[in-house]
This record gives sequence, C-alpha cells and structure tokens, in this order.
Amino acid sequence: DHLVNQIAAGEVVERPVSVVKELVENALDAGAQSVVVSLEQGGKDLIRVTDDGVGIPVAELALALQRHATSKITSLDDLEQVETMGFRGEALPSIASVARLDLASRHADDPHAWSVRVRQGTISEPEPHALQQGTRVEVADLFYNTPARRKFLRAERTEFNHVDGVLRRFALGRFDVTFVLEHNGRVVARYDAADDETSRERRLRAALGDEFTAHALSIDEQRGDLSLGGWVAEPRFNRAQADRQFLFVNGRAVRDRIAAHAVRQAFQDVLFHGRHPAFVLYLGVPPSLVDVNVHPQKTEVRFRDGRAVHDFLFSSLHRALADSGTGAGAP
Ligand code: ADP
Ligand code: MG
Repeated sequence: DHLVNQIAAGEVVERPVSVVKELVENALDAGAQSVVVSLEQGGKDLIRVTDDGVGIPVAELALALQRHATSKITSLDDLEQVETMGFRGEALPSIASVARLDLASRHADDPHAWSVRVRQGTISEPEPHALQQGTRVEVADLFYNTPARRKFLRAERTEFNHVDGVLRRFALGRFDVTFVLEHNGRVVARYDAADDETSRERRLRAALGDEFTAHALSIDEQRGDLSLGGWVAEPRFNRAQADRQFLFVNGRAVRDRIAAHAVRQAFQDVLFHGRHPAFVLYLGVPPSLVDVNVHPQKTEVRFRDGRAVHDFLFSSLHRALADSGTGAGAP
C-alpha cells in the first residue's frame, strides 16, 4: 500500500503548495473558524496546518491516514452531490508516503488530544498529546524518500510564493474564516474573519493590496437565478498584478475560460484594452446548471448554458464599468 500511496502522491502532491491546499481544505471541511499555516524554508522543510475544527476522535486517527478512508462519503448517492471539498480519501495517505507526517487532534468528545506519526508507511500507536480542540498536521522533509522529486522543488522564495497565492485565494473565498500564514517563525500574512464593511475592506486590502482596493469597482448584480458579486479593477492599476484574477462559482475557486473571456470582453468594450484586468468575482449559479470537476491541481466547471453565463457576466460588468465613468473621454 505504501507504493500505491506513493503513486497516488504523484497526482496529489507536486510541491509544498499542493500539501497546503489539501490540508486547508480538510480544515475547512472540519468547520474550522481559524486556520494557521506555518512553513519552514518555503514548506520544503516543514508545513504545519493547525485548525480549530471538530477534530478527529482517537478511534479514527489511524483510519484517517489510510487509503480511501474518507469520512465524507457514506453512499454512492453522496458521490453525486459532494458538498465538501475533499472526498477522495487519499490526500493524507499520499502526503504521508512522501514525507514525515505527524497528526495530532482533539475531538470534542475526547478529554484530551492524541497524536500519531507515519514513518515509511507505518502508523504509530496513538499517544496523548497537548492540543486544544482541533487538528494539527505536520509534514516534514517533503520528498525526503524520493530524491528525484525533491530535486524538482524550486527556491524557497518560489515555493513560498505559491503557498502565499493559494492562501490569498482561500482568504477571498471564505471571509468568515481567519487565516494566518507564518514563514520561518514570522507571521507574514493575516486575514482576520470579516463580517462588516470595514473588516471586509481590510481583508480585501490584505489579499490584493492598496492599489486594487482603492480603485476597485464593486459589483452586485442579479438576473433570474444568476448572481454576481465582487470587485474588478482596471488593468492599468495592476500591471504588476496580472495574476490577481479570482473567480468563485458557488463559493468554490475555479478556473473557467468562458468567464475569463466574458470579463476580458467587458473591459475591452468599455476601456479599449482588456489585458490583465484584476478581479475577484463571486458567481452564483443553480447547482443543477453547473458541473464541478475537481482535479487535484485545478478545479474546472462546466456550465449547462455557457452562453447565458457569458452574457450575464459580460453585461453585468459592462454596465458597472460604463456607469462608473471609467474610460470616459475615450473615442
Ligand atoms: P478526504 O478529505 O478526501 O476525506 P483526506 O485524506 O484528506 O481525505 O482525509 C481523510 C479523513 O481524515 C477525512 O475524511 C477526515 O475524516 C479526516 N480529517 C483530515 N483532516 C482533518 C481535519 N483537519 N479535521 C478533522 N478531520 C480531518
Ligand atoms: Mg481532504
């Protein structure tokens, strides 16, 4: 099974950011209100994710580390309508097969926390541990046992930047959860849970910078059962921020060509240049009209009626941009 896990790891785990993504998704699935991600050396030496979610009962600790031991699907029906982000039950065993993994957790029903370790595919007996309610996963020395893959890891700064980017995305996707990112013992990003205008703006600034926040147009549109919220900013304010494009469909971060095209077109039409607009958009679509395809590395959607979605996005943004007077004076 160790080998099977290592093979699966090839799909799930490419670099530190893939580990962080899986662990943070697990934390959110567990209902965490606060998620702290700590890295050493860009995550190459250590990735630690601590949450305050429901925790794992001691009797299920070892199970969580076994292949296809997901607690998130109990019937084939569930497969059809997966609400949680993770459901394959292979992230933890895959990660454990290519790193040294320590798992500590305290479930509300247990009087104290317990921890287990996985070394070379062997799971240790649970030992008492000191931890408040929630779960802490530590992943050390990624790819220590597969030197060829370890060699493919990039500079500390590069690996850190990838993690930083994915945390921005989580922070923009879940304003109700606090996220903290630490690197080499220092807090480098902090996104406090936001529930009013002021705290939302502070969070937007933390995720996207002052320039974006100062110049962003806010969007709030509804047509039939489609809705669109969020912010867009003109390309000229964001030359150096071409990667500041975030789309959430029904709360899930996705990449989608149709949506990206509609946004570009709207900018093109109003401003006469559509390159690299910065945006954070939240599209709401009835679940029956969208298929979500969750791949370990990227999430894509397929709309039943792509044209209607394109048209809604284009016309919403077009109106917002034109109304704002942005680009006034252009021929
Ligand atoms: P999946 O998320 O696809 O179910 P994982 O390998 O990521 O598979 O996790 C296996 C199981 O371990 C989960 O189904 C869940 O029961 C448990 N688990 C993992 N991480 C956490 C966490 N942070 N809090 C609570 N339970 C967790
Ligand atoms: Mg998971």
